[in-house]
Amino acid sequence: QWIYLDNRFVKKEDAVVSVFDHGFLYGDGVFEGIRVYSGNIFRLDEHLDRLYASAHSIMLNIPYTKEEFTQIIIDTVKKNKLYSAYIRVVVSRGAGNLGLDPRNCPAPSVIVIAEALSIYAESLYENGLKMASVATRRNRADILSPQVKSLNYLNNIIVKLESIQAGADEALMMNSEGYVTEGSADNIFVVKNGKIKTPPVYLGALEGITRNVIIDLAKENGYVLEETPFTRHDVYIADEVFLTGTAAEVIAVVNVDQRVIGSGKPGPVTNSLLKVFRQVVETDGVK
Ligand code: PLP
Repeated sequence: QWIYLDNRFVKKEDAVVSVFDHGFLYGDGVFEGIRVYSGNIFRLDEHLDRLYASAHSIMLNIPYTKEEFTQIIIDTVKKNKLYSAYIRVVVSRGAGNLGLDPRNCPAPSVIVIAEALSIYAESLYENGLKMASVATRRNRADILSPQVKSLNYLNNIIVKLESIQAGADEALMMNSEGYVTEGSADNIFVVKNGKIKTPPVYLGALEGITRNVIIDLAKENGYVLEETPFTRHDVYIADEVFLTGTAAEVIAVVNVDQRVIGSGKPGPVTNSLLKVFRQVVETDGVK
């Protein structure tokens, strides 16, 4: 396995960064997760736009143009001869001293890892996930924008642990007002009486690229879809609940806080959107 690390390809065993890297010391950096389906890198432009936006927001200068970065990612996939894969792109502030000050980090670290990976077992797509609502809240937009995909994923990690301790597969995160925002690394949708709802991102959800694909596909397929705030109660009484994300794709949720959702099985709207999503990813992407 070849890893892209600061202008060159190195073997996995040799892909190491300094203990003085501020990505490691402080979580000072940004990242993206991207999928490759049948040799196509899915929504690469959107992922790079979000990476550059996250970096700009935290005043981190990515040392490549988007065109150069596109080529680096394509080359990493090719070098590893991958057909279906998960790509992790990381840009950190780089190595500095032990102080917080980013001015002591002369050059950012750029890492691209591509590996064959399937995140959830196919049986979970067939049977659905269990979610549990958690005590930890989504970080607020006035602290650090949820749109910044920073290396500070501590609250997402805490909510994941809280949900596992509650016997669930994934966490249902809310904002400080109690409105549902998202999962630990995926966006949430509910279906009630044939209508689909997802929280507006201003409530404190990442504007997921899969979320946006599903919003478009739902509308193209004749569903009514609203971006509107809702609470845990709306999740409990939904006919269907599903999550979207680069890793999760489209996955049904069949139990939330011990309430069975709908029939207790992945529902028809979720299944039909997963089907069209899987068709789109096969044909639509950067080679
Ligand atoms: N929400 C959070 C907090 C995430 O980290 C992710 C994963 O990237 C998502 C939602 C889903 O976004 P996307 O569909 O762009 O992968």
